[in-house]
Amino acid sequence: MRDLSAGPRVLLKRLRELMAEPLEPQERLDRITRQIASNMVAEVCSVYVLRSDGVLELYATEGLNPDAVHLAQLKMGQGLVGTIAASAQPLNLSDAQAHPAFRYLPETGEEIYHSFLGVPILRAGRSLGVLVVQNKAQRNYREDELEALETTAMVLAEMIATGELKKITRPGLELDLTRPVTIEGDGYSEGIGLGHVVLHEPRVVVTNLLNEDTETEIARLADALGSLRISIDDMLSRREVAMEGEHREVLETYRMFAHDQGWVRRMEEAIRNGLTAEAAVEKVQSDTKARMMRLTDPYMRERMHDFDDLANRLLRQLTGFSASGGGQALPADAIVFARAMGAAELLDYPRQNLRGLVLEEGAVTSHVVIVARAMGIAVVGQAAGAVALAENGDAVIIDGDDATVHLRPVADLQKAYEEKVKLRARRQEQFRALRDVEPRSKDGTRIALKMNAGLMVDLPQLAESGADGIGLFRTELQFMISSTMPKAEEQEAFYRNVLKQAKGSVVTFRTLDIGGDKVLPYFRGDAEENPALGWRAIRLSLDRPGLLRTQMRALLKAASGGELKMMLPMVTEVAEIHAARELLQKEVQHLSKFGHGLPRKLQFGVMLEVPALMWQLDELMQVVDFVSVGSNDLFQFSMAVDRGNARVSDRFDNLGLPFLRILRDIVRAGERHATPVTLCGEMAGKPLSSMALFAIGFRSVSMSPTAIGPVKAMLLQLDLGRLSQEVNRRLDAPRADDGTIRAFLTRFAEENGVPL
Ligand code: PEP
Ligand code: MG
Repeated sequence: MRDLSAGPRVLLKRLRELMAEPLEPQERLDRITRQIASNMVAEVCSVYVLRSDGVLELYATEGLNPDAVHLAQLKMGQGLVGTIAASAQPLNLSDAQAHPAFRYLPETGEEIYHSFLGVPILRAGRSLGVLVVQNKAQRNYREDELEALETTAMVLAEMIATGELKKITRPGLELDLTRPVTIEGDGYSEGIGLGHVVLHEPRVVVTNLLNEDTETEIARLADALGSLRISIDDMLSRREVAMEGEHREVLETYRMFAHDQGWVRRMEEAIRNGLTAEAAVEKVQSDTKARMMRLTDPYMRERMHDFDDLANRLLRQLTGFSASGGGQALPADAIVFARAMGAAELLDYPRQNLRGLVLEEGAVTSHVVIVARAMGIAVVGQAAGAVALAENGDAVIIDGDDATVHLRPVADLQKAYEEKVKLRARRQEQFRALRDVEPRSKDGTRIALKMNAGLMVDLPQLAESGADGIGLFRTELQFMISSTMPKAEEQEAFYRNVLKQAKGSVVTFRTLDIGGDKVLPYFRGDAEENPALGWRAIRLSLDRPGLLRTQMRALLKAASGGELKMMLPMVTEVAEIHAARELLQKEVQHLSKFGHGLPRKLQFGVMLEVPALMWQLDELMQVVDFVSVGSNDLFQFSMAVDRGNARVSDRFDNLGLPFLRILRDIVRAGERHATPVTLCGEMAGKPLSSMALFAIGFRSVSMSPTAIGPVKAMLLQLDLGRLSQEVNRRLDAPRADDGTIRAFLTRFAEENGVPL
């Protein structure tokens, strides 16, 4: 054998010339295989491309029977080629026919070749095809030859990804890259969106694959790695992450990867084989991803994400690509794809362009999902692999009702969904027709249906939905979307505007509920082991009274002459209410002393979210003007299930005995003291759960505005008296044959024509 150490460079140089020549795709592919075969002193070089039907088709060959091109085919997982594609791993065999997966394709005439080296053609860790060389003699291919073939496969991946091979794909067939894919996840926000993919963290597209000078590229890589390491050390040394905690752990992992000699060596090797520094990073990232994608261990998968993030950072360093904006215009019908995302990041997208949100992670009560729901866009979470399968600009349908995402949908499906969207629009029309209908049960009980809000964009919904006011205004959202702490005047102007837009409807402002998973970029506490149980909401407000007093003053001034309803989040002990009320009194006194107008009416309430308040109900009801149950947090703390962790957040039923009994106790305590009780967690917005809430005595609930129509439609047909008796009987003395309350409610609705 000839020494091949200079081989790959020469080969890549030739390939670069071939890529630049104005050739027909088949001709280009034929010449590429010929070039590879000659350079690697192989008697055979073949390219198999993965079609959308899961078949690997021979697209070009040097050495095998040319008549077999576009005819010879293997299924994914079948034969050596199918095994390579399915496992995304190379195979290096001195005697191919002795391998158990070997499958003889008579049309190719390959029986005379013994040794076999095949590598997957990868893009973002996905197999797009397989590249093979074969020799008659039994031999083992060397490690550097394997590297060279893998590097060459990058060029083919680029050719496939740019769509060049479409022209030589037989009519009626499609390549895998354009294959329609349906991803099933969890439905977090109802609705259907038709639009185009926007990758939240756009993939850096490396177009400059082949290098001119190895040493320059090695130096560029070293430089970029140096800056990357410095930036990680810098992040680690900053005070806010100096504690133990998740954030630190991620950065430590980054640092470990960034110093991993194996990683650096593999990238340098790829450069020596002729790639540019960025192409080398991408190649090693893709190889690693392909290997790690098959891991099922959640810890290791998390590490894969860390590695991927780090490689992306390095790519950005090398290409000067900025993640924000990415240079591309946002389509008018954007469906955003992300692994995970913060609420503020979603708010960076203009609302009018958003049609949906697809998350690989997330949970139904995580804040980004709440914000998405407030914006009225469909959300599917836990959509495994969504980001790797999607390309910017791909057509996509998101179905939040069915919890599915259809990537690159076929025309029929697209049509069916267009119909479905029309149907939904008609249903929305019917709900809109209910807007001015008073929300009363069939047997005459009036229920207040209020809406949740937090942003200016929510306000027009008040009139559109016909809500009985705003039952929860999450004031922290204004803080979360701002890059600096909103000043007193800004807060006041904002609240004044909200009240103006509300045109006399009552707005219940919740004071700052930050901490936990609601992080303000400019206000970070120390990292906490259990942020949900940490320094947050009213705790933080009482420790930083300046913050709370500023907000209270802004609210009092904004509501001057009108009505102000204010409530405290996450109260644990009645003493906290007294402390906060004292601060409020001080503000009232201060304002009147300086001659400011005060609200005509002031109501002061709390959110019931912490179970400890269950044993202070009587005291609580006596000291407040109203109570609002935050069922998202109350459920999280009562059942000890992290609301943001999809593995456990839905593990227990919020319509099960324990939680309904908790809720009923609250309603009854309110009745004992004639203190109004309402509920403003996500469960109020589901017709089935609001049925249960009304049955146990709630006469006021607050939900996302889009839920008001469906809940009202349910209520209008509901015989509440009869349902109430049945549910209470089941809560007081459940019988063995009762089944679950959820099942009972569903049956009751079905049998009595109650629309859900
Ligand atoms: C709740 O906890 O139910 C609630 C309404 O508050 P948030 O979702 O903002 O924590
Ligand atoms: Mg809460």
